[in-house]
Amino acid sequence: MPFTQLQNELDERAAQGLLRQRRMIAGPQSPHIEVDGRLLLSFSSNDYLGLANHPQLIKVLQEGALKHGLGAGAAHLVSGHSEAHHELEQRIAAFVGKPAALLFSTGYMANLGTVQALVGRGDTVFADKLNHASLNDAMLLCRAGVKRYRHGDMAQLEQLLAQAKGGRKLVVTDTVFSMDGDIAPLRELLALCEQYDAWLYVDDAHGFGVQGEQGRGSMSHFGIASPRIIYMATLGKAAGVFGAIVAAEQAVIDTLINHANSYVYTTATPPALSVALLESVDLIEQGDELRTHLHRLIEQLRVGLADLPWRLMPSDTAIQPLLIGDNQRALELSDGLRERGIWVVAIRTPTVPQGTARLRITLSAAHSEADVGRLIEALHELAR
Ligand SMILES: *Cc1c(COP(=O)(O)O)cnc(C)c1O
Repeated sequence: MPFTQLQNELDERAAQGLLRQRRMIAGPQSPHIEVDGRLLLSFSSNDYLGLANHPQLIKVLQEGALKHGLGAGAAHLVSGHSEAHHELEQRIAAFVGKPAALLFSTGYMANLGTVQALVGRGDTVFADKLNHASLNDAMLLCRAGVKRYRHGDMAQLEQLLAQAKGGRKLVVTDTVFSMDGDIAPLRELLALCEQYDAWLYVDDAHGFGVQGEQGRGSMSHFGIASPRIIYMATLGKAAGVFGAIVAAEQAVIDTLINHANSYVYTTATPPALSVALLESVDLIEQGDELRTHLHRLIEQLRVGLADLPWRLMPSDTAIQPLLIGDNQRALELSDGLRERGIWVVAIRTPTVPQGTARLRITLSAAHSEADVGRLIEALHELAR
């Protein structure tokens, strides 16, 4: 049977401590969550503002479903483009300071579709080595030449840009790196793009809602704006719902509507989600208290874990990875925390480079100081 080979490969992964498994949760996303039948304190979600279970969002989602029904019924270019989708695009474009925006079903699809629509054979994509997996896949799909630069290494990027011949140039980067928590140097990136006439595609999955003035994202955080920047935000993380938006010049958006396959050939998302997202953007805009609380928790965690044998990676964001190194050791620590009623996921290769397995701690404005205190205490116990 051909399955024997698959099973052997899976067994081998398991022996290396690399087998991926799902844990089943009951009830809504929250810091206090039932996982495989046990109530755990979770530091494992990207619900940075605690909006995933917000009563106001649930209420408007219900109203949206009553008004628009459930399924969109067709792709946007057929008969699925609802006024709710359209209003959301305009709202987010204005919120992040761009002339136009386009709603995609997911961030993964936004990355695949946008890169593929903007560059092709004869063009070159320049990418940070630690970019999200969906950007790596997007580069393979688009058929452009690919040049990867060492994480954050602007000197190497400049060399690569200087060597590029002809065609369009697209620099692609995470803003807040999803497994590291650090932030790309967007000012320097933009300056290089201006110097070498390249476009800058920024994936702000972990910045939108959290970074910048009123949560407007990483462009606002750095105080930069440019028609060269093509901005992508996902809407299932801090925004607490589902989906993704690409915001850019009108000509870019019109190009995506015509050429981004993952936009053209897929059913539009339920319009009620866009109704909920309109409310979510309001909550983000008014969410300074949530962001202030979140930053206090980040500070509390960094101070509280400063004297552990493992070090927190350099990060000012809600993503606070604790570097362990060995895959098996990271799993053991994650298990040890679970025995103490705390859920932190161990991230291993190939998601992160070999030898850099880590506990990816993520904080949310829905955590209390007591919650973070419990995590600090448990990690000290495990270190002893
Ligand atoms: C989560 C994530 C995505 C994918 O977004 P989805 O909406 O979950 O598909 C893309 N890029 C980065 C950096 C992410 O963290």
